[in-house]
Amino acid sequence: MILGDENEVLIFTFARLGRDSVDDENEVLIFTFARLGRDSVDDENEVLIFTFARLGRARPMIILAVETSCDDTCITILKSKINGDNFEILSNIVSPQVKIHAKYGGVFPSLAKREHQKNLPIVLRKALRVAKNPKIDVIAVTVGPGLEPCLWAGINFAKELAEKMNLPIIPVNHIEAHILVNLIDRDSTSLKLKNFPAICLVVSGGHTQLILMKGIGKYRILGETRDDAAGECFDKVARVLGLGYPGGPVVASEAAKYNIQNTEYKIHLPRPMISTKDYDFSFSGLKTAVLYLVKNLKSEKKLTKKKVQEICFESQQSIIDVLIKKTMKAAKDYKAKTIILGGGVTANEELKRQLKQKIEKEIPRTKYLVPGTEYCTDNAVMAAITALSHLIVKTKNWKKIIANANLRIDELRP
Ligand code: ADP
Ligand code: MG
Repeated sequence: MILGDENEVLIFTFARLGRDSVDDENEVLIFTFARLGRDSVDDENEVLIFTFARLGRARPMIILAVETSCDDTCITILKSKINGDNFEILSNIVSPQVKIHAKYGGVFPSLAKREHQKNLPIVLRKALRVAKNPKIDVIAVTVGPGLEPCLWAGINFAKELAEKMNLPIIPVNHIEAHILVNLIDRDSTSLKLKNFPAICLVVSGGHTQLILMKGIGKYRILGETRDDAAGECFDKVARVLGLGYPGGPVVASEAAKYNIQNTEYKIHLPRPMISTKDYDFSFSGLKTAVLYLVKNLKSEKKLTKKKVQEICFESQQSIIDVLIKKTMKAAKDYKAKTIILGGGVTANEELKRQLKQKIEKEIPRTKYLVPGTEYCTDNAVMAAITALSHLIVKTKNWKKIIANANLRIDELRP
């Protein structure tokens, strides 16, 4: 049985209550509340959501999600379908600022904020046009972690929109969003994630964390980087080699050109913290090692194209080795049923391939989830999906929605 419209909810509710009619609609609300053990809700919409949830279905609803935690201005409009675990991405607009930040070799927060403020209205218009101007039910916005000025740009924009349209807001944790984007199944229309506990490796430009996930909303950080994030390390290696920004894609493509069999001498870079018993990481030593190596090669005039490829290959492999070692250790220690990747660095084909190989060899019954390439780096689909999983936290108390640059996944709600 599929619920088609709001009327049907009432009929279902009556049936559930063993009644076939009520005196007035108010009575339905009172009955429903009693049944749910609640005595008030924010608005009537919430009753519908509750009722659907209770019946194992979700009311179709349209979420507009805003994501500006770093240097991409992103808006997605997503429609959840009648079945709850089905949805449709009506529009997904990402406006990157790469060119603007490239000359600094990294993201310049105040500049990024201004760009977000300039881009958001344009991106919104495009998102609405592509989605054919649907009626929005709820607004989702990333509130942290991220660059504070950037987060505020998105939050202020979302709040203004929500107040104007009298809509509730759902605050979204960016790290959780990098994980929950894996709820998108291969066909991109349904949400699937069942096998817990899961070990999540979130690796991006700003974060490197290993997280134990016992279910949606149930997280524990097992370990994280003590200094630089893995993506930051890719970016810094690229910078030292003069390869531009962002570093990940260009380091990966230079590494792919390197022929491992055919080299005069092999460079060896450190694998920081690879053998420690914890789940922490450290990448700043690797960056420094590359810096000194490049300095020496330059002074000896030996920094050839081939050497650059070799350094990219070895840096990438060093990062991959450490990430895989710690992820596998956590997966074995916690008997993970699923390993989930998320964040910009998971766009790295070698990381995905080598981890897959390792899982198949050592723990073949463990499920392995990686986001589609377009969902590895920042986007607003991941924020919309996360909001869909936490509809209950929506609020019209817009003042409560604030940026938290250091928001942790184990203190989900701001
Ligand atoms: P954040 O959430 O920290 O803003 P993203 O999740 O968008 O960042 O990830 C951006 C990071 O991902 C950058 O540091 C970039 O170098 C890295 N990255 C992107 N593609 C690749 C790749 N193919 N290999 C390795 N790193 C990559
Ligand atoms: Mg990110």
